[in-house]
Amino acid sequence: MIDLHSHTTASDGQHSPEELLALAASAGVTVLAVTDHDTVAGLSAAKAAAAHHGVELVAGIELSAFVLGKEAHILGHFLRPEDPGISQFADTLRTEREQRMKQMVEKMRKLGFPVRMEEVYTLAGSAHLGRPHLARVLVEKGWCVDTKEAFDRFLGSGRPAWVDRYRLDGADAIQLIRTAGGTATLAHPGTSKMNRGEIATLAKAGLAGLEVLHSDHNPSMREKYVALAQEFALVTTAGSDFHGEKVAPGRHLGTASMPPALFQQLRARASA
Ligand SMILES: [Zn+2]
Ligand SMILES: [Zn+2]
Repeated sequence: MIDLHSHTTASDGQHSPEELLALAASAGVTVLAVTDHDTVAGLSAAKAAAAHHGVELVAGIELSAFVLGKEAHILGHFLRPEDPGISQFADTLRTEREQRMKQMVEKMRKLGFPVRMEEVYTLAGSAHLGRPHLARVLVEKGWCVDTKEAFDRFLGSGRPAWVDRYRLDGADAIQLIRTAGGTATLAHPGTSKMNRGEIATLAKAGLAGLEVLHSDHNPSMREKYVALAQEFALVTTAGSDFHGEKVAPGRHLGTASMPPALFQQLRARASA
């Protein structure tokens, strides 16, 4: 079984890279791509664990980007994780997250809620800094009853302490992946509500694949995107998008699997 989409604790997955590879091996997965959100931090541990279990690891990433104003997730496969472009990008994101948090904390202070950056950092720990951490601080301080209230009153889109986040352009995401030797594939186009126009734009920018088989895709989505893949000469791929049962229930490793011939077609498009 070939599964080109999964997550570890390096982003929002439940399982460490070691646990993930053990689970994949026992589920009968022979080729697994580890594709954490905006990071390659889990790949070296995943590579060692994959060798131990006799699973072929595809070095991957899942980038959040925007195409024609809509959020799109773009998978990179067959990456060189040590590529300088990738580490530069990780640095940029870290700086952007910090800047955004500083601005949101400043807005909260002006609203009369004296939050400190250190409190948010403490709560975030090693995780990517984000609004949920600030929301939890507001709850701990007793200013909101729960994080939902924190978002509804202050942090949600358009609310008084909200600051828009960094937006990576879809074409730039594809370029970043290609420069690091990889192929770019549009993840779960069905759940992201991607239409022909957006796919055409990404195809022009060098998209190689379309994730037609995904845990959350229904048969009519599959049909729609198989046709679009054909129209734009994209390789149809499969991914469970496994995060672990506690994070995303009902998604199982290997349930979305693709034929070896298509996997080879995708690999052939890698620029490495
Ligand atoms: Zn995604
Ligand atoms: Zn994912």
